[in-house]
Amino acid sequence: MKTNMCRYCYKEIRDRDDLVTASNWFRIRPYHYRCFEKMEQDTKTIAGTWTPINGRVGLITVLLMAVLSGLMLLTDLLGGIGDLLGVLALYPILLRVLSYFVFEMPLPKLADDKRK
Ligand SMILES: [Zn+2]
Repeated sequence: MKTNMCRYCYKEIRDRDDLVTASNWFRIRPYHYRCFEKMEQDTKTIAGTWTPINGRVGLITVLLMAVLSGLMLLTDLLGGIGDLLGVLALYPILLRVLSYFVFEMPLPKLADDKRK
């Protein structure tokens, strides 16, 4: 299965402008921006929530988690529980990095015919 294929409409995702990568536990899936919106409405009750991990919301999450994780792992705040929280906070960061290398990097920022 190609990594740049939308898991909703099974068509190719041509550039990062269209791409939404979403995570649900340990799975990451690529979708078209529009397909993701449709899917969210369709499956909210059935499939649980897929959280988009690219774009602005994802970036803010990653920044917050990086700060939290650093704080917990590098200081003695909350002791052992703090370390655990620090490790857990690394998880969304890992997902984001994975999503970047697997799905975003192979795609052009904009498809050729969208350039001015
Ligand atoms: Zn699609």
